[in-house]
This record gives sequence, structure tokens and C-alpha cells, in this order.
Amino acid sequence: MIRRARVEVQGVVQGVGFRPFVYGLANRLGLVGHVFNDAAGVSIEVEGEDSSIEAFVHALRDIPPPMARVQALRSVDMEPVGETRFSIVESTTRGTARVVVSPDLAVCPDCLAELQDPKNRRHGHAFINCTNCGPRYTIIENVPYDRARTTMAEFDMCPQCGAEYADPGNRRFHAEATCCPECGPRLDITDPHGRSIACDDPMREAVRRLEAGQILAIKGIGGFHLACDASNKRAVQELRRRKRRDLKPFAVMTVSLAEAMRVGVIAAETGRLLESPERPIVLVRKHPRLGEQVAGEVAPRNARIGIMLPYTPIHHMLFADSTPRVLVMTSGNASDESIAHENDDAYKRLGELADAFLIHDRRIRTRTDDSVMQVAAGAPRYLRRSRGHAPFPVTLNRDTSAQEILAVGAELNGAACLTRAGQAYISHHLGDLDHLAAWEAFHQAVETLCRMLDVIPAAVACDLHPAYATTRHARGLSLPVVAVQHHHAHIASVLAEAGRDGPVIGVSFDGYGWGDDGNAWGGEFLVCDLADYRRVGCIAPVPLPGGDAAAKRPARTGYVMLREAFGAEEAALLAARLLPGLAAEERRVIDDMIKKGVNCPSSTSAGRLFDAAAALCGLCDANLYHAQAPMELEGAAWTQENEHGYYAAELSERGGLIHLPGAEIIRGIVNDRLTGVPAAVCAARFHNSLARSAVETCIAIRNNTGLSTVALSGGVFANAWLLEQMNGMLEERGFEVLTNTVVPPGDGGISLGQAAVAARRLSCA
Ligand code: ZN
Ligand code: ZN
Ligand code: FE
Repeated sequence: MIRRARVEVQGVVQGVGFRPFVYGLANRLGLVGHVFNDAAGVSIEVEGEDSSIEAFVHALRDIPPPMARVQALRSVDMEPVGETRFSIVESTTRGTARVVVSPDLAVCPDCLAELQDPKNRRHGHAFINCTNCGPRYTIIENVPYDRARTTMAEFDMCPQCGAEYADPGNRRFHAEATCCPECGPRLDITDPHGRSIACDDPMREAVRRLEAGQILAIKGIGGFHLACDASNKRAVQELRRRKRRDLKPFAVMTVSLAEAMRVGVIAAETGRLLESPERPIVLVRKHPRLGEQVAGEVAPRNARIGIMLPYTPIHHMLFADSTPRVLVMTSGNASDESIAHENDDAYKRLGELADAFLIHDRRIRTRTDDSVMQVAAGAPRYLRRSRGHAPFPVTLNRDTSAQEILAVGAELNGAACLTRAGQAYISHHLGDLDHLAAWEAFHQAVETLCRMLDVIPAAVACDLHPAYATTRHARGLSLPVVAVQHHHAHIASVLAEAGRDGPVIGVSFDGYGWGDDGNAWGGEFLVCDLADYRRVGCIAPVPLPGGDAAAKRPARTGYVMLREAFGAEEAALLAARLLPGLAAEERRVIDDMIKKGVNCPSSTSAGRLFDAAAALCGLCDANLYHAQAPMELEGAAWTQENEHGYYAAELSERGGLIHLPGAEIIRGIVNDRLTGVPAAVCAARFHNSLARSAVETCIAIRNNTGLSTVALSGGVFANAWLLEQMNGMLEERGFEVLTNTVVPPGDGGISLGQAAVAARRLSCA
């Protein structure tokens, strides 16, 4: 039977080869009709055999082009009109823009084949791309997405590229960044002052310099990387010296998955993640025989290493003729500020770090760092969500507010979030917002989101912390403000991802967040839904001399915990043995601060408990980078995968709150250490103990409330060991467990939670 149907598709469906895909599909199935882009997405009418139309709709849903993400698909029957062919018709720009801008994706296999084919006219063209691959979010100035509104507007297409662009049968049909060696951007290699270096081929010259042990700044999709030969110990040391980065691990890029498997332990799921078109950095265990190809200085004192595969044509070309099979590829910045992305800025900021610059004249409109992921508790998870993923949205529950909300996040690992029509769009990673460059990136990201989504927010959500720059910014916007408690927002991010309202038991472990009593929270058990929360338990509070500054000195927190566990007198004796890095003078200052209660806030932080454990295990007494001690403690635990021991700790109740006694767990570590138990074993036991006590706390809360769903979030759940332990134990005890898989569990995901809470509160108001 002949039917006609109108099919409307929404999501990431423009600039991703959707219309040529539809055109080809309709022709294969013998369907007539037409397709066009409109402001809401792609609109299609098809006419033909019943079964063909059914197959057509299934294919749209199940096998769309690789860069497309179908969020909604609606099909209605119409009267057949008896067309004779299928065509692509002129786009309309009526209505409000509702299209999602695509993230940037790695060069596709078709383009890669052309890149390497000496007979192809794009052989060796460093800017090859098509409708299925290449830059998007980073080059877009405005919507709707077409070339005139990207940084490719500066390059006029040559007639040949123009013909491909206009041909619906060509895989570059309406690929807005289409170009070739004739008409596209140009590669150059320069000295640190921006003066071109005379050579036959900038790529060869770059490779020659990498082989010689030089450090290169390389312009990629979302910004600059600093690169050097990972096997060259001297080069890696020099990069550390210039970057003033003593210990923080560098990520590496390997020529292939096969090579990656010699660097890290890579299971099937991790391999798929590495090869995904988003090409994140994936954190994996180091290969036991990781020898010559990666110098120890790349990721010192760490059981894990971050690996990524080449994703721009430039990366592939670098590896094509170079002997190093593994390159260090670290963000082109000085410390935790955001990545450099403009040529002039790069020379200014990286001029003293790099020996030469491999550069080109295509502007990067929006900088994006590499995304960082890991596989934990059976699923890929974000540690940093940026290139390849931003600004793909999360769908919020439908009955939430119709008002558009801007959520500004917290302070470290900044990321803003803007809602539109029930979708929450999260910006790229912005860095630590106490850096000026990151703060500028924050403003630009908010402005970009508003412009791309064509939204003027009606309300703003922020953290409760009165001194965060983001909070002050939110309060200065003359919009209604919804201030959301930090840990409530973490748990709400999990609820928002899952499309749930709660109530749930929320376990939020992180370094620090402002509590509603003004104290430093960070080990919280909440009973909460999207609208509100009640604090029902916490890690037992301890004084934190120096407040925020304590995060830099795990040895100090270790000493505080010794005092809690053994009393002041014995603590002094134990500290002399177990915390050799802490001078007697420093201990006296701490004693004094605690006695007088000066600059000594009360803290329930899980992150600080990890710091104390790491210090007392003798692993790390100073955090030179964010969360160094907890990461090293986790790394040590991973060397003892079969260790199931734990330290018993009895829960108690104070003022209506369940207290999880961190000090008792610390006492277990100390007793072990004094009897010569290896640090790594203690590290594993510490993780097991915290997981166990947290699960017991959840059971106690279930007994009181009848709730049996637990949501886990907060930066500490970047810890794969803790996450897997708690997830497993909770499920064993009959809980349903919700975790972050769409945004990071840390503060990079918190703006989503803020937006979800604000949406719910405003819809109730
Ligand atoms: Zn391609
Ligand atoms: Zn061309
Ligand atoms: Fe947090």
C-alpha cells in the first residue's frame, strides 16, 4: 500500500550530513518526497510502500550518520501526492532556532583514507573534513550553522570544492568547513616569536624537531598542545621544568590502539572509548612493561596514565613519518588556567615553553580542552567533559520550569549550563575560575551559549558560597537567583541525568563545599529530591586549621586526624614517626590554632580524609596539584586489587546526624603502619573501610526513611576504586544505585545539578 508521512527529526541533525543521508536512504528504499532543514531540525516527507516507510523511519532512528544525535523523532501520516522523485529543497529559517550545535569530532575513516592517498587531491591536506567529521563547536560564531557564520568564512571555496559542496550525492554536500590545499587554511612552522622557519614542509620540520627532543606547541581543534617525544626522558624533564609542573601526570597520544595497548592495560570497553569519534583522553592502568616508549617522568608516582589517539589530520600526519610512536600531549597552558587558543595569545603564553610552533591560520572561536574519561563500575565516565562532548545537552524532566535558566557552577573545574525547552546545555571545561584567563573563558562561554541557543535567561542558579566569583556574578545579573547548596547540586546532577525527581539517599563526597550552616562540608549524606534536601549524616567533623589552605598540605590534615584518633599527646609521638615531613614547629602551630579555634573551621570533607590517609601511609605530604594525594592513594590501592581487609568503624549519632567516624579508619591505618603493613595494602584497606562505613550509613538511613535508591556524586567519586566498591556493596544490599555517566561527578558537573534544582523550584513557585 502507498502511504505518505511527514517525519520531523530533532537533535544534532544539522551540519552532520543528515540531508544527504536521508536523500541516499530514500533513494535506496524507492521512496519519493523531499527533505529540508528548518529552525527546529530536519523535516522530511516521504511517499512509497508501507514497509519501505517503516524501514526508513527505523533507519533514521537506529543508524543515523555518525555525528548526528537524534533526540526526538515524530512521524504523522499524510495524503499521498504522487511525486516522481526525492529531492533536497531549500532550507527555511522560520521559527525559533532549536537546532543543537554539533560537538567537534575526530577525522573520519573516509577522510583519513583520502588524506593518505597520494592520488587524492586532498592528499596530505591538514584540514580535510566532511559532513561526518571535523571541527564544529570550536569554529562556530553564530547559528544557524553555515560557513558564513564560522571561522571558515575567511576562506573562499575554490570551484572544485564548491561543486562538491553543492552536490547532494557528494559526502561533502553542505559540509560547511569543506576546503582543499587550493583554498583552505595553511600550515606553518614558526619560532617562539611567530617568525616562519624556512623549510620545505612544516610537518616534516615539526617531526624532525620532535625527534631531536624539542618541545613543540601544536595548534589542534580546540586549542594548543605542548608536545614532545614521550620516550625522551630529557625532553619530558625539560617540559616539566618549563611548565613548572613537578608531578602532575601528562597525557600521551599514541599512534594507534595497538600502540596504546603497550602503554596501558586496555580492555575492550576502554578500547572502544579510545577509538570513539569524540577521542577523549582515557585514564588507564599503566602497562606492567611500559618501558622504553614512555619515560617515567611522564606520569610519576601514579599507577595510571592518560592516553588518547590522534584525532585531527595534523596528528595523523605527525605520526605518519615520525619515529616517536608515543608523544606527550599536554594542554598548552602554564598551570590550571585554560588552554591557549589564539595565535597571538599562544605566542605570549607559550613562547617560553615551546621551541617551535606548528600553527595555521584557521581561527579557533571557542577553546576546548581534551575531555578526560575512564571506565569504572562497568561504564564510561567523565572526569572532564569538553571537546567532542560540549555542548551536547542533557534532557531535563519534562514537567520542570518553562523558564530558561543559567547555572554558573562553582569555582574549580568551571562549566556553565544553560537550559532551553527542557534541555540543559553544558559548556566546555573552563578551568579553575580563580585564574583570570579561565574567568574570561567563563564569560565567553556564557555569551556563546546564550547566542547559539538564542536564549535570554530568566533566572540564574549558583552555589551557596558567598565569595565564589560565580556567585557574585550571578547576584550581579539582576535576575531572580536560586542559590543551591553544593552537595545538593552534586546529587541533583545525578537525578537530572537519570530523569528522576527523587527522593533518594544522596551520598556526596568531595573536597569542599559551603554548608548551609557556614561550615566546610564534603562528606555528606542527604535525603533529597530535586527541589530540596535534608542533611541526615556526614563524616564526623574535625577542625581544619588554615581552612582552604589545608588542601595543599595533607601532612597537616594527617596530624589533625592523629589528634582526633589518639589524643594530642600520643599524636605528637606518632607524628614524629609517621609524618616526618611535618616539622615540630608546624605541629605546635596547628595545636595552637585548634586550642584557640583561630582560623579553624569545622570540616566534614571526604577529600581531606583521603589527604590524611595518604600522608599517614607515607605516600604524599603535599598536594602540588589538585587532588594529588587522593589520586596517589587510589593508585597505590590499585596495585592491591585482591586486598579485601578493612578497618571497622562504628557509626554514631550527634544532634540528629549520623556520624561516620573518619578518625577510627585512620586509627586502623596507623596500627597497620606501626606493624609494618605496606602502604599500598593500607591504601586498599582505607578505601574498603570508607566504602563499607558509607554503605552502613545508607542502610541506617534506609531503616529510618524507607528509601532504597542511593545517588553517588561529588569529586571523590572520580575515584574508580571507591565507586566500584560502593556500587557493588550497595547493590548487594538491595539498593538501586544512581551515578554520573553524562557529566563529571566533580564540580565540572555541578552546574547541571544547579540548573535542575532551579528548574524544579521555579516550576513549584
Ligand atoms: Zn570525514
Ligand atoms: Zn578547494
Ligand atoms: Fe564539589
